[in-house]
Amino acid sequence: MMAGSAAFAYSTDAQAQSDNFRYNDEQFADIQMLRYKVEGFERLTLKEKTFIYYLSEAALQGRDILFDQNGRYNLRIRRMLETVYTDYNGNRKDAFYTALSTYLKRVWFSAGIHHHYGCDKFLPDFKPEELRNALKQVDARKLPLAEGQSVDALCDEIFPVIFDPTVMPMRVNQKDGDDLVLTSASNYYAPGITQKEAEKFYTQRKAPLDPQPVMMGMNSRLVRNDDGELEERVWRVGGLYGQAIEKIVENLLKARPFADTPEQQKVIDLLVEYYRTGDLRTFDAYSIAWLKDTESLVDFVNGFTESYGDPLGMKASWESIVNFKDLAATERTKKLSENAQWFENQSPIDNRFKKEKVKGVSAKVITAAILGGDLYPSTAIGINLPNSDWVRREHGSKSVTIGNLTAAYAKAAHGSGMDKEFVIDEPTRQLIATYGDVCDDLHTDLHECLGHGSGKLLPGTDPDTLKAYGSTIEEARADLFGLYYVADQKLVELGLTPNLEAYKSQYYTYMMNGLMTQLVRIKPGATIEEAHMRNRALIARWVYEQGKDGKVVELIKKKGKTYVRINDYEALRELFGKLLAEVQRIKSEGDYEAARLLVENYGVKVDTDLHKEILARYEKLHLSPYKGFINPVYTAIRDTQGNITDVSIDYSEAYDRQMLRYSRDYNTLPDVND
Ligand code: ZN
Repeated sequence: MMAGSAAFAYSTDAQAQSDNFRYNDEQFADIQMLRYKVEGFERLTLKEKTFIYYLSEAALQGRDILFDQNGRYNLRIRRMLETVYTDYNGNRKDAFYTALSTYLKRVWFSAGIHHHYGCDKFLPDFKPEELRNALKQVDARKLPLAEGQSVDALCDEIFPVIFDPTVMPMRVNQKDGDDLVLTSASNYYAPGITQKEAEKFYTQRKAPLDPQPVMMGMNSRLVRNDDGELEERVWRVGGLYGQAIEKIVENLLKARPFADTPEQQKVIDLLVEYYRTGDLRTFDAYSIAWLKDTESLVDFVNGFTESYGDPLGMKASWESIVNFKDLAATERTKKLSENAQWFENQSPIDNRFKKEKVKGVSAKVITAAILGGDLYPSTAIGINLPNSDWVRREHGSKSVTIGNLTAAYAKAAHGSGMDKEFVIDEPTRQLIATYGDVCDDLHTDLHECLGHGSGKLLPGTDPDTLKAYGSTIEEARADLFGLYYVADQKLVELGLTPNLEAYKSQYYTYMMNGLMTQLVRIKPGATIEEAHMRNRALIARWVYEQGKDGKVVELIKKKGKTYVRINDYEALRELFGKLLAEVQRIKSEGDYEAARLLVENYGVKVDTDLHKEILARYEKLHLSPYKGFINPVYTAIRDTQGNITDVSIDYSEAYDRQMLRYSRDYNTLPDVND
């Protein structure tokens, strides 16, 4: 998207496509599967698409590593369940098969038998005998049998792990006083190694005065050797997980010629060297090269990264994401940045608080192209890496938000029945369906790109004067800047909004959220604590109160249900402007008392009756608390010589088909990895 008026063409385009694109997919247990759209993929060059293709292959090749890291029986359990799932010759509508399907879907989702979030073991709704019978009826060659092992012996070995709630009950146990290593089921320490032994092993190896310490232990399992001594089995080519890592390296090398820049090729070279040697100094060198590469359009994470799965917080689970700069967001924020001074000058705040020279910030929004390892199917919506303290201190970090995942969550919420339940009438729902996405994005852009950077402190004002109220006031300032300007004729002129109707969708959803729907995240009897939520409540309630006499915004009841009704959108914009002026004054002058009153009066307390009503209505929608994503499918189209001539993208693969395909095509590790 390059030309001026294309911004809007792009959004109608996206709308047309969204008609046959489902954000919400299947639901099972406590999980809702979603899909994300890789906006802009088709417009990338062949070189960029090919680069993404090989990087996404590298992202999928590590899948088995995570299963094994999450528990030493997980790969075998997955293979047993999958064989029954595909080869079952009983009635596929019977209770056993239904329960097995749900259990297997959960095992896929968690990459193991423990809940991905709670870490506790979930139990199947079928009986051990039922699974044993089914396993005896399938082709034994498809089962993970050890040399000479009978199906019965396999069942005897594995079933306590699946069915006995007292065996391996927690993946990561953090309970104070327990031996955290012995009692955690994750596979980072060989069985029988105690917490004391592991801690001693690493304390002895720490170089006390190293100003650039490596993240010791992050890429290995701690085991006991034949002499009874502890040693590390490093995850590298030729080491533990070597079969999977070789495949990852192979695809990184295929990707290398298509990298954006020589700097990015250097990033790949360092990563490959690290995968081959397991050397943690090389890993730090790779991290530094990676964080400095901010120019490349396509970027990726591939490796042992986060250590939440290790009770001692050292050993890192394998993950991958491939992404590229959000082209539409980059284009939008470029337009805003170019006009930053105009926005500053026209702002409804007192001239004393305006910046003489203001610079916009460009978008730090990326589009995810594939998710792998510990980022799949449950994922993060932002990246802030690397994790090494000294690297961050001396070289900084790369921090981005993943726009298409955030958008998918938001769109899934629209399709979840929330709008039908809480939006006042059909015309308003229609307004939101037509303009909601465009204006949500724009509000975020205005907030991030101009809002936070606008205005100035008066000379002598200490930036920390507002103390605990500072972040709420700052978020309110940026949000109000966005709300005021999303309704401006200037955005129509810039081709960012299609007309002066569109902003009303943002005003409605903002008020509905601030006055009502964000309360679904608050427990009964509690108050609002989080700064962004306080800011939304503060803004929505303040303008509601101030506009009461003129009936600008009303809360009305229909059949016992409360709804937001906006009667005068222009007056509402004036009120946002008025509050922006006041919030800027508070910030510029450092008026602590005014900040405290504003936040405490409007941003903290919850109307108990309304809260109860909202929670009850929400409850009836039966929405799943946990969400995860199905990946798109990339297919390389090749000419007769085998050269890639295009890469196609498809969104139709079902969750179980995807998981079975991954288990077949990215089946990199043996049943047992010791
Ligand atoms: Zn902000």
